[in-house]
Amino acid sequence: MTTVYNFSAGPSALPKDVLKKAQEELVNYKNSGMSVMELSHRSGLFSEIMDDAEALIRELMEIPDNYKVLFLQGGASTQFAMAPMNLLTGSKKADYVITGSWSQKAYQEAQKYGDIRLIGDSEGEVLSHIPKITKDQVDPEADYVHITTNNTIEGTTFHDIPDTGDVPIVADMSSNILSRPMDVSQFGLIYAGAQKNIGPAGLTLVIVRDDLIGHAPDWVPTMLDYKIHAEKKSVYNTPPAFSIYMAKLVFEWLRDEVGGLYEMEKRNQQKAELLYQTIEQSALFKTTVEKEDRSWMNVPFVSVDDDKELEATFIKEAKEEGLETLKGHRSVGGMRASIYNAMPYEGVKKLAEFIEAFEKKHRG
Ligand SMILES: *Cc1c(COP(=O)(O)O)cnc(C)c1O
Repeated sequence: MTTVYNFSAGPSALPKDVLKKAQEELVNYKNSGMSVMELSHRSGLFSEIMDDAEALIRELMEIPDNYKVLFLQGGASTQFAMAPMNLLTGSKKADYVITGSWSQKAYQEAQKYGDIRLIGDSEGEVLSHIPKITKDQVDPEADYVHITTNNTIEGTTFHDIPDTGDVPIVADMSSNILSRPMDVSQFGLIYAGAQKNIGPAGLTLVIVRDDLIGHAPDWVPTMLDYKIHAEKKSVYNTPPAFSIYMAKLVFEWLRDEVGGLYEMEKRNQQKAELLYQTIEQSALFKTTVEKEDRSWMNVPFVSVDDDKELEATFIKEAKEEGLETLKGHRSVGGMRASIYNAMPYEGVKKLAEFIEAFEKKHRG
């Protein structure tokens, strides 16, 4: 079988070492005679997995002690509602920055729960850049400011986190969490669906500052109250046990095989540079994003002549070479290479070489 490199935006590639370890332990976890999927979520063996997963992510992200780490369900999309439900408790106002389809959805959902204002968006330029947000744009009375740190579909990213003064930032970090060191203390709340950089779908990670917990109004469903999950250490009900176990293996891989987030950052930067450089030098393709806002995780590119047929041929021929899931999101078109943590340098190199070879073959 030819080696397959999966450029899917999510669910996306997992580190091969992690999959192998899970395979080894699948049927008989630590001599229990059972799989992790069969363990009681109240058992000692499973509690150990939860504790390890939390300790590892705290270590990797250097999470301060006044933040809780929660392992929840419902995806990032549930956080679009859960965050406003729990946090719109003061002025009931929040400021949202729209930089792509996901932040647009977050903004729409939040309107159900308070007075939501738009401060700066990337509109007009096909969401190809990140607006500059300054402190004076932020309503000092707002309960929070919401941003999406990496725009999975548009391929843009906040390389610098805006200064919002005393107003806490709520960040959807689904597609770039763990891709490089982040100063957690710059945020009030971070959330991420697992299926991009953490592990399999089904798990949603939430990192939330203590003072933002415990103010949800009575009407908020029990399952959507951060306080319940914080008090019950994410086992108020049955958690997504196998996904948490896989996340733990990914965290171990990040620490022990990669060497932590500073090293991960270097590798991600190298991968992104190689790919952007190749596309820039290409006569057939171009990127869709302004240079200073380019994502290191999601790289959309299109035909310079808007040649849909050429794009379709590229995707088809790439697939034959084991370069999978390169079709762009329908709203942007063209191609998108998602090169998350688990994508090795060799995979990006193979794609870069393929782009060059394709060009030689098809340049008319
Ligand atoms: C994938 C993604 C989502 C949606 O996540 P779900 O877990 O499917 O709800 C939201 N925001 C961003 C930035 C994403 O990349």
